[in-house]
Amino acid sequence: MNLICTETQAKYPINDIRWKSDTDALLDIEFYPIIDLDKIKQRPFNMWRYLESFPLNSFENLVSFQEGFTPLLKEVIAQKEVYLKVDYFFPTSSYKDRGTTLMMTHIKNLGITDIVQDSSGNAGASVACYSSRGKVSCDIFVPESTPQAKINQILLYDGKVHQVQGTRQDTAEKAYQKAHKSYYASHVWNPFFIQGTKTFAYEICEQMAWDAPDTIILPVGSGSLLLGTYLGFKELKDNHIISKIPKIIGIQSEICSPLYQMFEQNLTEIPKIANQPTLAEGIAIAKPLRARQILEYIQNTNGKLLTVSEEEIKESFLMMAKKGFLIETTSSATIAGLIKYINYFAENDEVIVSTLTGNGLKSMTKIGKIL
Ligand SMILES: *Cc1c(COP(=O)(O)O)cnc(C)c1O
Repeated sequence: MNLICTETQAKYPINDIRWKSDTDALLDIEFYPIIDLDKIKQRPFNMWRYLESFPLNSFENLVSFQEGFTPLLKEVIAQKEVYLKVDYFFPTSSYKDRGTTLMMTHIKNLGITDIVQDSSGNAGASVACYSSRGKVSCDIFVPESTPQAKINQILLYDGKVHQVQGTRQDTAEKAYQKAHKSYYASHVWNPFFIQGTKTFAYEICEQMAWDAPDTIILPVGSGSLLLGTYLGFKELKDNHIISKIPKIIGIQSEICSPLYQMFEQNLTEIPKIANQPTLAEGIAIAKPLRARQILEYIQNTNGKLLTVSEEEIKESFLMMAKKGFLIETTSSATIAGLIKYINYFAENDEVIVSTLTGNGLKSMTKIGKIL
């Protein structure tokens, strides 16, 4: 196991206290787990049952709520039967806890006491929650437009909130500066986060009797769910547990779609995106740092990206509410993308999985405006 620089391929010991390489580039983890289904089946039904797939040096003191193993529901959407993984069933009501529980356990293993994170809300709430559970001090940077409910959630967990004027990007830059004197528990920079979101793939596979679906439809902003999902399926394939990696379809908001534009126009640089509000605030990332990796993984699966309009996000939000799902509008953007995919691309017998990433209770003010 090593940390490996995504630019120079320089390697560092896995337990180095670092979140970027010596050349200021992103780190990945070089790690090829051996998966033993018999061992997994003996453990409790939570995401920690996939122990062998986590690159940690100790499992003695988990910073955990025994989270995960969320329901995989069969639902009819746009007249097609699909599966929805209900990932708002987590301690802080978003899938971010998958990455945070793993990253925070690593942080405790290393003896780190102070961390920094930036977020439009959910990642901040998640890191603040697990920081208080692990007794680590955390500074959370959020854009000034962040809903008060999400800020309150961070404050309740004793997170130190710093509201930053300007764009989501300005917030990320403030946190990046601060992280040089601390440790960056970023869901984008920190490679341990993505090791936790891999469990999304493991759980789907196990819930489908150790088989993989044909297609996975996911929201994508910075890619922390998408990248982990790809890695998880890849590890299962490398272990000969499944025979194919599902096609991955990434959903973006029309208003903020840098990855979609790069994919469609074969761009190598991230295009400039005008800063405008979208209902899909959780995926409004103008400068996705791991863009190259995200596009490479999508391409490897023969997948693609789709965009959805504000009107489509609103319609699918209301449609899901009528089925009893109170989700974030970021998550209803995924459903709008799922509907588009079904209407224009899906085969009759294609097995499709999508997900509900965040709970709508945190955005009731915004939801009031839709009503
Ligand atoms: C963070 C988040 C996403 C997108 O995750 P990325 O890592 O930015 O791709 C999607 N939905 C919700 C509810 C989120 O909180």
